[in-house]
Amino acid sequence: MKPDFDLQRHNTFGLPARARWSAVLSQPTDVELAWEKAQSLRLPLRVLGGGSNVIFRPFFDGIIAMMEIKGRSVLGRQGEHTLLQAGAGEDWHEFVLWTLSQNVPGLENLAGIPGKVGAAPIQNIGAYGLEMADRFHSLLAYDLENKNTIVFNKDDCGFGYRQSVFKKAAGRFIVLSVTFAMPNDWAPQLSYQGLSELSPDTDPQTVAQTIIALRNGKLPDWRKFGNAGSFFHNPIVESAFAAELRKTHSDAPVYPQQDGRSKLSAAWLIERCGFKGSRLGGVGVSERHALVLVNYGDGTQEQLESLADNIKSEVLARFGVVLHQEPETI
Ligand SMILES: Cc1cc2nc3c(=O)[nH]c(=O)nc-3n(C[C@H](O)[C@H](O)[C@H](O)COP(=O)(O)OP(=O)(O)OC[C@H]3O[C@@H](n4cnc5c(N)ncnc54)[C@H](O)[C@@H]3O)c2cc1C
Repeated sequence: MKPDFDLQRHNTFGLPARARWSAVLSQPTDVELAWEKAQSLRLPLRVLGGGSNVIFRPFFDGIIAMMEIKGRSVLGRQGEHTLLQAGAGEDWHEFVLWTLSQNVPGLENLAGIPGKVGAAPIQNIGAYGLEMADRFHSLLAYDLENKNTIVFNKDDCGFGYRQSVFKKAAGRFIVLSVTFAMPNDWAPQLSYQGLSELSPDTDPQTVAQTIIALRNGKLPDWRKFGNAGSFFHNPIVESAFAAELRKTHSDAPVYPQQDGRSKLSAAWLIERCGFKGSRLGGVGVSERHALVLVNYGDGTQEQLESLADNIKSEVLARFGVVLHQEPETI
């Protein structure tokens, strides 16, 4: 445990923040110890992965526990799948590359996403036509409320678009390891814009490298301009509402969903409201991508929240659409 911990280097927004205490979780049993310590101090405990989906307030009056549980292994075949397991503290992108080096493809569309394996189920990360849930088998988590370790199978997790039971329970379950089920009859997933030019015979490495190049071309580098990727969810609306929008804005992107509703593009809505490239103090909306809010160096959480509020109000007033923030404010 370290007191008065500087969090600025531990969040990809690069926001200035401190925590009363920090702890490092190197093995599963550390979680229970950290939680006992938090309870004895009467302080909250939050686990942190790569800090790529959080917005820190200036001071966290509790314990920030850094997830460092490592380990990755091929567990073997089970029916039509090959099972792989990784510790929650493994770097996500490195893990994806490792699965390819083991000749067990299936996660390549999620290459290049920052953060750690343990956070991937929290918002069911997704990109380029694939969600983590598509390759998920089960996970092991520590339940802070009941003080026990539980296995969650896929049906227990309530995965949806950037959603899960873990996100809803905000901090109650600490993911210790995740098991993935990769299809033995792998075929590239090329439905997403930008991938359709690849041949159906493409190998998984090429898919991963193409996606990494696409991401680098599209998103600002968080090491230069602090950000947390998409700042808002793409809104899901009734299809009748989307059809009305298309009547007045024929270029509005609309993606039909399996449940009969439609997904709109938050980036398009924000750009149409004139925010792309705009600034507020030390923060702004990326010139490259309207969905990415950026810290230009000396930005603060307060400025970021003000800018986000301005965007939300304008999109609501102009299009009648409510935007929901993706990164969690802690
Ligand atoms: C440049 C950039 C691009 C991005 N692109 C994408 C993308 O394409 N798709 C996408 O879905 N996301 C994307 N993201 C968001 C982010 O990378 C993912 O959400 C990632 O999974 C967060 O991992 P993390 O380890 O950084 O989580 P953190 O930011 O550390 O934590 C996020 C939340 O998860 C909780 N948490 C973390 N670890 C655990 C654990 N072991 N157990 C329980 N709770 C935990 C934290 O308490 C917090 O509430 C992007 C972010 C950036 C900066």
